[in-house]
Amino acid sequence: MKINRFIIFTILIAVSWCLGTTPLFAQKNEGKVATIVIDPGHGGKHPGTVYNNKVYEKDIVLSIALKLGKLIKSNFSDVKVVYTRTTDKYVDLGERGKLANSVEADLFLSIHADASANKTAKGSSSFVMGIDKSQQNLDVAMRENDVISYEDDYTTKYEGYIPGSTESFIIFTLMQYANTDQSMLFASMIQKHYKKNTPMQNRGAKQAPFLVLWRTTMPSVLTEVGFLSNAEDRSFITTQSGQSKIARSLFNAFSEYKASVEGTMTPLQINSNSPIAESSQTIVRESKPNDNGVVFCVQISSSPKKVSLSNSQFKSYKGRVKERKIGKVYKYTVGEYSSYSDALRLQRTIRRDIKDAFTIAFIDGKPTTVTKARALIE
Ligand SMILES: [Zn+2]
Repeated sequence: MKINRFIIFTILIAVSWCLGTTPLFAQKNEGKVATIVIDPGHGGKHPGTVYNNKVYEKDIVLSIALKLGKLIKSNFSDVKVVYTRTTDKYVDLGERGKLANSVEADLFLSIHADASANKTAKGSSSFVMGIDKSQQNLDVAMRENDVISYEDDYTTKYEGYIPGSTESFIIFTLMQYANTDQSMLFASMIQKHYKKNTPMQNRGAKQAPFLVLWRTTMPSVLTEVGFLSNAEDRSFITTQSGQSKIARSLFNAFSEYKASVEGTMTPLQINSNSPIAESSQTIVRESKPNDNGVVFCVQISSSPKKVSLSNSQFKSYKGRVKERKIGKVYKYTVGEYSSYSDALRLQRTIRRDIKDAFTIAFIDGKPTTVTKARALIE
C-alpha cells in the first residue's frame, strides 16, 4: 500500500466533493427504499467458482436472486426490482454498477458463492466496499474481481486496476465512503437473518475492495452465501430448499433495512415455515407467543361481512392483515405482539392514516379485554 497515493486520492475526492463537482455521493429518494438492484454474480462465459465440473456458482446465485426478487415484488408493491441479469449471460462488472446508478437504485445487492482451497472453510459472509486488515477478505475480493480479465480492455475500463494487485485496491474503496454505514447496516442484517434461517456458519459483515461495488452511488453489499468448496455448505446452497432459505433471509434483511430507513415500526418478515414466494398472506410479523397465551394486535377494520384481504382499504398493510371472526363480526387486525407497548407503538403508526385503529387482546386465541390481558403479563 502506498500511503502517498492514498493521501492524494483522499484530498482529491474531498476537494471535489466540497466543490460539489462530483455526483458520486448523490443519493436519490432520500428516506425511501423504492428501488433495489439485485446482481447475480458472473454468468455466461464466466461460471464463477465451479465444483466437480458441473456445479456452477453462476447458476446458484441466479436462482437465489430470482427467488429474492419474486419475494420482494409480491410483498412490496412500492418497490421496483431491477436485475443485472435474469438469464445465463455475462455482464461486465462496471456495467452492473452503472445500471444501478442509472435506475437511481436505493440499494444494490450482489450475490455470490465462496470457494477456498481449504475444504474446511465454510459459512456465509457479507461485504461492503472498504479495506480492513484481513488478508482473507482481500483474497475473496481478488478472486471475485478476477472476472474482469475475461472482459476486453479491462485496464482502461477499470482505470488501472490490475487483477491480483493489492496496491491498486485503495483507490476503489474511496468511492463508496459516503455509504459505508448504511451498507454495513444492511450487511449486518443479512448476516443476522442467515443465522436465523440457515444452518450456515456466520463469518460476519466485513469490508473488502470488490470492483462490482466500486462506483455504485447507493448503499451496496456483496454477499457470499456459502462455500461451494465445502461439502456441508454445498449440500445446502445447491438445493432448492437451501436456496429458498437464503432468499428468505435476504428478503427479511431487505425488509428490516427498508423499515429502518423509512422509520416503519414493523418490518414484514417471512416465518421459516412459509412456502416461498406465495401469496402475501404467508408473511407474518415475527413474534414469540407469550407464555400466558396473550397476544395484542391492532384492529384496523371490522365488518358484519367478510372482506377480501386484497381489498383496497388494506392496501397500505398488504400481507400483514389477519382476519379474525369474533361472534358474527369479522375483524381485521395487523401485528401480533406479546408485549402491550409494542402493539401501542404500532397503533400510533397506523393512526396516522386510520384514525380509529385500536389495540385488542386475545388469550389463547379467545378475545379478551386489554386490561385483563395486561393483568396476566404485568
Ligand atoms: Zn462470485
